[in-house]
Amino acid sequence: MFRTNTCGELRITDAGTVVTLAGWVQRVRKMGGMTFVDLRDRYGITQLVFNEELNEILCTQANKLGREDVIQVKGRVNERESKNKNLPTGDVEIIVSDLKVLNASVTPPFTIEDNTDGGDDIRMKYRYLDLRRNSVRRNLELRHQMTMEVRRYLDGKGFLEIETPMLIGSTPEGARDFVVPSRMNPGQFYALPQSPQTLKQLLMVAGMDRYFQIVKCFRDEDLRADRQPEFTQIDCEMSFVEQEDVITLFEGMAKHLFRMIRGIELTEPFPRMPWSEAMRLYGSDKPDTRFGMEFVELMEVLKGTGEFSVFNDANYIGGICAKGCASYTRKQLDQLTDFVKRSQIGAKGLVYARVQEDGSVKSSVDKFYTQDVLMQLKQAMSAEIGDLILIMSGDDVMRTRKQLCELRLEMGARLGLRDKNKFSLLWVVDFPMFEWSEEEGRLMAMHHPFTHPKEEDIPLLDSDPASVRADAYDMVCNGVEVGGGSIRIHDPELQDKMFKILGFTEERAQEQFGFLMNAFKYGAPPHGGLAYGLDRWVSLFAGLDSIRDCIAFPKNNSGRDVMLDAPSFIDQKQLEELNLSLDLKE
Ligand code: ASP
Repeated sequence: MFRTNTCGELRITDAGTVVTLAGWVQRVRKMGGMTFVDLRDRYGITQLVFNEELNEILCTQANKLGREDVIQVKGRVNERESKNKNLPTGDVEIIVSDLKVLNASVTPPFTIEDNTDGGDDIRMKYRYLDLRRNSVRRNLELRHQMTMEVRRYLDGKGFLEIETPMLIGSTPEGARDFVVPSRMNPGQFYALPQSPQTLKQLLMVAGMDRYFQIVKCFRDEDLRADRQPEFTQIDCEMSFVEQEDVITLFEGMAKHLFRMIRGIELTEPFPRMPWSEAMRLYGSDKPDTRFGMEFVELMEVLKGTGEFSVFNDANYIGGICAKGCASYTRKQLDQLTDFVKRSQIGAKGLVYARVQEDGSVKSSVDKFYTQDVLMQLKQAMSAEIGDLILIMSGDDVMRTRKQLCELRLEMGARLGLRDKNKFSLLWVVDFPMFEWSEEEGRLMAMHHPFTHPKEEDIPLLDSDPASVRADAYDMVCNGVEVGGGSIRIHDPELQDKMFKILGFTEERAQEQFGFLMNAFKYGAPPHGGLAYGLDRWVSLFAGLDSIRDCIAFPKNNSGRDVMLDAPSFIDQKQLEELNLSLDLKE
């Protein structure tokens, strides 16, 4: 037998038994005639003891061990004199009688410790070493637990786990595709799925009734902390359901995960917030509701009531009230102004007003407004003594709200209101069906083109498509969109109409989605579904800042796998087989 126990297993009750362990050398300490080695595997650390007096040769051998050598030892379990309360195995040690070096290690490029000395880049390059560290390994263990719980829950609800192909055609999630050339069909390309959206709908036509899959999706987008070019969805679809059915079932799944993984009982139904309200109060379709600081619209109070031309010309003026922040110094306020002016946010400026000890208001635009108007401002903002009011304005309502949203999140962070151990969940519902794309000069599907419009808004499809709302819903937790879905169109005529509004010619719609339209002619059940972002769920539960840390082999911000050095150029021979020649533009 290679080993009788793991390195995390032995306890005081095992004292006296002879065991064989195998693992990695974490650390070697020499103290007088004794040598102590911490032996590590996935399960824990066990202390090995070598005594020069008892076995000099063995002890000399142990002294030569280096970090990360893989060894096998045999020995007797012994009660430790000085116990280590921080280790589950800390009551015992192994008096080693046999030592075998299975594989020596060169010096690792960084220390395999919780507080490693390795920077991000080097740890990505040697990811297999980084994964030996507790913190990183724990994230993968958590991910495993979560997928097990997801399967348990959905299996219990009658869902079938069905795999769908990776080499397919273009899917409709609105990002760029990753493509794969086909050798057998020269000049033609597969696209990797941005999601299995169309396939899961076909599974409903096929009568599968309840489908799920924990599946890789591929989107060629600019990367951010919560985005990777390939990521994992818990993808689901159900037949004969309405929005309420989907929401209830998947709220149940979220609650199940909180209970099983974090021991948190969420008893109340998650609040539902119409998209328009989320935009009005938070400037975001994924509001962080761990704290208030909702927007107050100030057009009535500040537009045309003073000489400040910036406000007088604005189409939107909104403010937030930061409790107790009237004490902010000039420097702090300048920092905030610089923050909103950064290119990523792009605001022109920031106006502030402090509520002073005597209840009066002192603001950066004092000279333009009477104290009377400023008192109205204070009242509109429900501001009290010691509070700081921050105001932004602009000509584009949505853009200005998004800028104010960034400021609100920044203030929330500064005030410690975005606690990672506090969870605030909600559903954002009633999304608009379409959004206008400046780039494309046409309406685009906000969710995807198969999303069902709200029944009562269908007549507006002809007269005022921009105001049509969809049966679409997102689940939001702590300002992160953790999932989203919709009720789908199952009527070929309505789907046709949708394609027309989206600017598809009949030929293009047929070319891209003809297979689905055709399938719908053979009896498509009403259906709907949702997809959860597994990586985002794991990073929320693990309290991570980036989804990268819960992915075994992630890509860096330029979409590179620095460990495998991919993407890379391919051989001329391979190109020829694929009937391709490269003509790279600079
Ligand atoms: N396919 C959608 C997405 O990836 C989810 C859904 O509508 O079920 O966002």
